[in-house]
Amino acid sequence: MMKWFKLLFVLLVIGAFVYKSFVYTDEQYYCSIKVLPSFQPSNWDFRKVFKMLKQTAPEEYQYMCANVSTISKDMSCGGFDGGCYYTEQRRTLYIGNDQDNIAVTTAVIIHELCHARQNNEGRPLIESECYQKGASYLNGLYSY
Ligand SMILES: [Zn+2]
Repeated sequence: MMKWFKLLFVLLVIGAFVYKSFVYTDEQYYCSIKVLPSFQPSNWDFRKVFKMLKQTAPEEYQYMCANVSTISKDMSCGGFDGGCYYTEQRRTLYIGNDQDNIAVTTAVIIHELCHARQNNEGRPLIESECYQKGASYLNGLYSY
């Protein structure tokens, strides 16, 4: 009997570890986002990137918390340094990035959030609008 308790305990510890590694929560904004790992070289640290987003683009951060439940690190259609948004997966973003550049990763999230917003508002996905949002975010960061 003791063996089973030990096994259960080990499974619980592993479960807690997995949960901590792949789920982001922020009670202040009712944020709960699963970040799916990838076997591809997509090495951005979601805790650092979300913190950056929260500090530098709080409106985008809040929109993400309210409208996104899953982020996949697979590179998907955006290549190694891009992201992807599929209209039929309205609460999922694909963010592939292996550049170790927190600003670029944050800008990619802002780009994909822009597509999510377009989709949620029943508008077509227009690239120019979202590239502009990502670019003006980066400009804002580097202009001080
Ligand atoms: Zn796009």
